[in-house]
Amino acid sequence: MCVEYVWKIIPKETPAIEMICTRCNNNRFICSDKFRINSNKKLSDVWLIYKCSHCDNTWNMNILTRKNLSHIDHHVFCGFQENNVDLAWHYAFNKSIVKCNKARLNSHINVEIVDHQGNYLHSIDSVISVLVTSEYELPMTIKKVLQQKLNLSANQVAKLHQEAAIVINGDKNDDLSKKIGFGCKIAMDFTKWI
Ligand SMILES: [Zn+2]
Repeated sequence: MCVEYVWKIIPKETPAIEMICTRCNNNRFICSDKFRINSNKKLSDVWLIYKCSHCDNTWNMNILTRKNLSHIDHHVFCGFQENNVDLAWHYAFNKSIVKCNKARLNSHINVEIVDHQGNYLHSIDSVISVLVTSEYELPMTIKKVLQQKLNLSANQVAKLHQEAAIVINGDKNDDLSKKIGFGCKIAMDFTKWI
């Protein structure tokens, strides 16, 4: 029998942007969780403000360009005005927005992985299925999550994956270096555990 567990990944920070600072040459910008809005008549521009981790130089990530106010969801626009942190985080993790800005996310972020439906280690089943979920689009790899949660080295995780003791999304060939994004499914067969 295959029991399903849920690991909810809760990021403790937003990913840094890898970009050379024009002022100090540092390569790391941190999200300030603040928006900048520029409105001209009915058209608005919205940016998410980042700061160089070394010198506080700012870089703005473009969120909306010359958008008619009537086309923006009222709650979202209020979120921009009030610097809603959850909204800022959703954009800070949004791969396509970051890509449109020709920026790159650093994949190293501190996360907490919370067990729902109890701890899998107490399972008496030899095969368990884990649903990994995240509210934000995580840039970290599946391998990193497994290393952290199972307390194993990268090589140990790779070996278990090779032996099909760990299978991602039901596909033995699915890559461990794939980004978690909003989640994935992991099957673990303890009879093949070494
Ligand atoms: Zn700087």
